[in-house]
Amino acid sequence: MSGIDGTPTESVRAVVLPAVGAPLRVTRIRLPRPGPGRVRVRLAAAGVCHSDLSLANGTLAHPVPAVLGHEGAGTVTEVGEGVESIRPGQRVILNWAPSCGRCHFCAVLAEPWLCAEANAGTTTPYARDEDGGELYPGLTVAAFAEETVVPEHAVLPLPDGIPPAEAALLGCAVLTGWGAVHHNARVREGESVLVIGVGGVGLAVLQAARIAGASRIVAVDVSEGKEPLARAAGATDFLLASDRTAREVRALTGGLGVDVAIECAGRAETIRAAWSATRRGGRAVVVGIGGKDQKVTFSALELFITGRTLSGCVYGNSVPARDLPVLAEHVLAGRFDLSALVTDRIALDGVPDAFEAMLAGRGGRALVVHDG
Ligand SMILES: [Zn+2]
Ligand SMILES: [Zn+2]
Repeated sequence: MSGIDGTPTESVRAVVLPAVGAPLRVTRIRLPRPGPGRVRVRLAAAGVCHSDLSLANGTLAHPVPAVLGHEGAGTVTEVGEGVESIRPGQRVILNWAPSCGRCHFCAVLAEPWLCAEANAGTTTPYARDEDGGELYPGLTVAAFAEETVVPEHAVLPLPDGIPPAEAALLGCAVLTGWGAVHHNARVREGESVLVIGVGGVGLAVLQAARIAGASRIVAVDVSEGKEPLARAAGATDFLLASDRTAREVRALTGGLGVDVAIECAGRAETIRAAWSATRRGGRAVVVGIGGKDQKVTFSALELFITGRTLSGCVYGNSVPARDLPVLAEHVLAGRFDLSALVTDRIALDGVPDAFEAMLAGRGGRALVVHDG
């Protein structure tokens, strides 16, 4: 028996989004035992990411009711029939964009971050609530829970030596931020980098830019409280966001503008600021996920004259199997500090408050840490 009606196991606690725009509920759910090709994971930790908020408020369409959370790490406790790559006891990171290996993007282009099937896991219910109602897995992995059941290819073995709780951050914020710097913008030693939006991803971008050898790293955020976090992550300058941001950044770079601007807020005005703050021929990269109503405008003349590149960046153009071992080396050598991204350690019950804090622009990354 596979899927939602497999033999149910004991109930576990989870954070459920009952409907788009509705308050979150921290409640008990019933998981089935893992069916063919699926594995059960006991979570050690899960990060609260801005994309969870985007699912909750409808910016990103997703079936509901759903268990949210997509940045998690834990231990495999049980595997279904036919699972060969993973065994019980294996420590893993959850991958919210598992690639199929067969579509045009995976098989022909070798760009698995664009996999056409990456969200296929979100459309089939995976668990039930206590009244028997169907629940969908948020971004396939449903990480805001004590345990989850996911497809085999949605887990990645955790490299040895990485702290189990902070490892969760590798699954979204760090792969995304690292990849934006190394795979999308391809920051070179000595270049100047602007980072707009100092949340979990922004902090990962700052650390990655430092590791890449960027000479000047300017961080911009709406909250003054982010300055110490940004500087600890590698920022050489910090500016409070305003309608003068692009001008202020240009002033810091002798009027030229930065070589690379990475936007992590997903708003029209900050994308425009990132673009305007970039030098002629520079690269502006949009990592933030904005809504359909956010329209960015450029004149045809400036597109020509500035010679800039503007690119969207999905999951940091990551190939997790290639990137995780590299990141693990940086973590183990002390160059990449995962704990510096975590601003609050909370229990599952704290997730609704962490959403409020994100809405208010406070904090960096709240990390749900489970006992034991
Ligand atoms: Zn995320
Ligand atoms: Zn694919």
